[in-house]
Amino acid sequence: MSPDLMNKYETVIGLEVHVQLQTQSKLFAGDANAFGDDPNTHVSPITLGHPGTLPKMNERAIEYAIRMGIVCHCNIARYNYFARKNYFYPDLPKGYQISQHTTPICEGGYVHIKTSTGEKNVELTRIHLEEDAGKSIHDQHDQLTLLDYNRAGVPLIEIVTEPVIHSAEEAAAYVTEIRKIVRWIGICDGNMEEGSLRCDANISIRPAGSKTLGTRVEVKNLNSIKHVKHAIEIEVERLIGITERGGKIIQETRSYDADNNTTFAIRTKEDAEDYRYFPEPDLAPFHFTEAFIEEIKAALPSLPEERVRNYITSFGLTEYDAHQLTEDKHLSDLFEQIAEGTSHKKHLANFLLGPVKSYLNQASQTWEDLHISHASWHGLLDLVASGKISFSAAAQKLLPEMLKNADLDPLVLAKEQDLIQDAGQDEIKTWVEQVLADMPDKVVEYQKGKKGLIGLFVGEIKKVSKGKADPRIATEMLTLYLNRK
Ligand code: ADP
Ligand code: MG
Repeated sequence: MSPDLMNKYETVIGLEVHVQLQTQSKLFAGDANAFGDDPNTHVSPITLGHPGTLPKMNERAIEYAIRMGIVCHCNIARYNYFARKNYFYPDLPKGYQISQHTTPICEGGYVHIKTSTGEKNVELTRIHLEEDAGKSIHDQHDQLTLLDYNRAGVPLIEIVTEPVIHSAEEAAAYVTEIRKIVRWIGICDGNMEEGSLRCDANISIRPAGSKTLGTRVEVKNLNSIKHVKHAIEIEVERLIGITERGGKIIQETRSYDADNNTTFAIRTKEDAEDYRYFPEPDLAPFHFTEAFIEEIKAALPSLPEERVRNYITSFGLTEYDAHQLTEDKHLSDLFEQIAEGTSHKKHLANFLLGPVKSYLNQASQTWEDLHISHASWHGLLDLVASGKISFSAAAQKLLPEMLKNADLDPLVLAKEQDLIQDAGQDEIKTWVEQVLADMPDKVVEYQKGKKGLIGLFVGEIKKVSKGKADPRIATEMLTLYLNRK
């Protein structure tokens, strides 16, 4: 589609993100909240909605929802009740879903995002608590749909934005940020492939400059950031196409087919009144004390933005490193724990973000799998910072051993492997003289102004000294010699 045509319209998107809360048990029943177990193994009579059973509130789920509300700057409703949302579908064993309607647990608030076009706050409408439905499985039998109710009753929060997102890129950035936040505050694993985090995109277009909302379509159950982006891109093109041909957009619910990168209609949209909401009679309304909310607030970890600022201003790290270190909370926590006992924070960041990160990637491991003791870390950092061994020798020779054995003493190991750069001034002087004598042409080039050649000379000294010369001393001495001639 031509850019002119695209510019004629403004895209308007509101996202609904469902986040499965990683509680031990379900929202109203003691069944395990577990993904990937044999079908229908976590299905008590409460989950199945047998007559006479009653739901019982999971307090941890409430706490998790409030955590999210706090970090998204929402108002936390002090008075709450649940609502019954009635509809009939085979994966909904009770024939209704317990959700929240007029009293969502959190209202307002925003999520900060960054895109190639700048930064903005995406305003939230609400965050409410509800239970998940079971799962219909259509691809394991020719004629039958199979049902797995393990997921039925798993706690969800649904995070709803205002219609303030204006591109596929912004939508993708928003979902990425939500995923990062829920992982950071420990309420969800953010695993979109397993459905722990799912997104519905409401999409409309309007003539550029117009303030009224166009008719929206809703694309359901997008289960990766890439799908969110692609589904919006093709849907916007489709809506513009219809409008340009003089057609009328109908409000409907669509599904995204990732294999063919298309969307298709699944139903025309039901209105709220179709659900016949009413207050859930089996659960008493409840309210939160200030102390309860304060307690949750006090237990929240410091957030990435705050840590980034601290790493830059107090630790002297670059903005890039600070952001990299706060991509993952386990990494950031680890960095802070080790950093506490050493002043060599930059070296530490270099190790973690360089060789350690690539080791973990190759071994398909996570930061939690890393067990090097703090004492070993500090030993390693001292060796490198004092110039006793080079960063590359430490990264290539010592780290692999330390990764295998958490308590190794790096100094002992470095001596065993003969990695200590312990050559004296006199020895280094001999090597400097030798290297310069071997490369008279390069010396002339250097003296004519090609100062970058210093790296070549230092490299040669590393070779002839077999790693025994501290490159800093070698560089100083080389510069002295070269400038003397
Ligand atoms: P429902 O719960 O029936 O899907 P809501 O009114 O709660 O409907 O809206 C759901 C989402 O759709 C919200 O994120 C909202 O911002 C978004 N939305 C509503 N109208 C439009 C529109 N015309 N274009 C784009 N998004 C919209
Ligand atoms: Mg919706």
